[in-house]
Amino acid sequence: MKNVAIFPGSFDPVTKGHEEIIRRAASLFEKLYVAIGVNKKKKYCFDLSQRKRFLERTFSDVANIEVVTYEGLTVSLCNSLGAGVLVRGLRSAIDFEYEYKIGAFNEIMSSGLETIYLAASPGYTHLSSTIVREIYLSGGDITPFVPEAVGSILQYG
Ligand code: ADP
Repeated sequence: MKNVAIFPGSFDPVTKGHEEIIRRAASLFEKLYVAIGVNKKKKYCFDLSQRKRFLERTFSDVANIEVVTYEGLTVSLCNSLGAGVLVRGLRSAIDFEYEYKIGAFNEIMSSGLETIYLAASPGYTHLSSTIVREIYLSGGDITPFVPEAVGSILQYG
């Protein structure tokens, strides 16, 4: 099904860059699953329930977005959700190099899954969860970099 898409990521935490690109992706499909990948070997800054809450609150105004969590292969999740399109964001040539390889593997491992890449809008290309995490862990204010809903959860719970 090509009208159902998935936007996978770690979202540790979701940034304004993710928000901008996910809103654009949601306008292109009937249904968009924002899928939080769980890798048992990875240590996260924000636990899964926090990351899910951040995303759910951020997109509470977008009716066709559903936040899900998953372990294992993204292509398996696409199969089980009936998603025919996988959406990824590109900020730079470095993102492209990485994403292109993953997309090639996914294409071979799946039948008919299409990966599409949306370029980050100007003003968002510098935003990365890694740097936002570092600022947060050093006690800095991350509200300029994360969706309003995340800032409000961090401040008021
Ligand atoms: P992963 O750990 O799988 O890279 P991320 O949560 O870091 O997951 O990113 C998920 C997706 O969001 C990736 O496709 C990434 O390129 C994209 N992305 C991250 N930051 C931005 C941004 N500032 N603008 C556009 N896309 C972004």
